[in-house]
Amino acid sequence: MTGLSLKKVCKKFGDHSVILNVDLSIKPGEFVVFVGPSGCGKSTLLRMIAGLEEISSGEFWIGNKRADQLPVSDRDIAMVFQSYALYPHMTLAENIGFPLRLAKMPKEEVQQKVMTIAEVLHLNNIIDRKPCQISGGQRQRVAIGRALARDPKVILLDEPLSNLDAALRLEMRVELARLHKQLAATMIYVTHDQVEAMTLADRIVILNNGEIAQIGTPLDLYSKPANTFVAEFIGSPKMNIFPVEIDNSKADNASVRLTNEGNDFTFDAPVQTNGPLQMGIRPEHMSPTDNGGIRGLVNRVEHLGSDTYIYWHFSALLSRFRISNRA
Ligand code: ADP
Ligand code: MG
Repeated sequence: MTGLSLKKVCKKFGDHSVILNVDLSIKPGEFVVFVGPSGCGKSTLLRMIAGLEEISSGEFWIGNKRADQLPVSDRDIAMVFQSYALYPHMTLAENIGFPLRLAKMPKEEVQQKVMTIAEVLHLNNIIDRKPCQISGGQRQRVAIGRALARDPKVILLDEPLSNLDAALRLEMRVELARLHKQLAATMIYVTHDQVEAMTLADRIVILNNGEIAQIGTPLDLYSKPANTFVAEFIGSPKMNIFPVEIDNSKADNASVRLTNEGNDFTFDAPVQTNGPLQMGIRPEHMSPTDNGGIRGLVNRVEHLGSDTYIYWHFSALLSRFRISNRA
């Protein structure tokens, strides 16, 4: 197992800065997820690690070896893409063994290696089929198998489940978590889906406009977001953000006032700062009440069975809360 580190890594396409001063250390065997909205630079960062894209400035290290100039073939890093592009005329076994045959591994060794991988990926019963005879999830597993064939030190996956339907995505997510445990490989997984990030990652790296917004464990990011971008990105439905005014005239507790025409809501809280602030409340931390509270106009109700999502207007702000229907 190998760790990776990036020091002040930047990427420019012409004059356009896409990645800005990324500092990141990934421990050997860690499962790190890069998450962020479309266009924030996730794939570019991953491609720089793979060696498919040059870094404009900064340093990249694999273990204790400087690697920015190392060619792709010397990095021991495998990458799985969203479109898995299997060879349609080859069987699954031939697809998985392709990089090994390319590396001139003897036939019998290739066969043995392919069978081991097929077993890990639960493909051994269908290994003689062609890609057109299997499901999307199985095809994605073959693509992962092909990446594993050469025992890479690091496995990079760029939105590998985006082309699958919701049920298959869920199934593959569980498979990937199992695979990571079994292989004990260092993995970096790119997704725009915060649920995938929360469920798979040892640590999440949230990117916003080419910069790291926060790095932490899933529960760190959920309970201690460093900024409103992270606060709103993690969690579904999104966190409610309200503008508040703070009155610090009292000695011990400040009074916090939500600003809303004719329907103010004030409470005491240990806030040190003066002036206007923003307050975030997660939908699951609110509940309906007949007694005081914040008044708002319900806009939409979504019944999910286990939970009910209620969208409501507080002044001009659309807010959300969640009721758990679990006993
Ligand atoms: P993500 O994977 O997070 O959706 P990308 O890393 O693909 O984002 O892209 C980040 C930004 O870099 C985008 O604005 C994209 O248009 C730009 N970009 C990516 N590749 C190139 C390229 N080869 N030339 C110019 N701009 C690019
Ligand atoms: Mg991308």
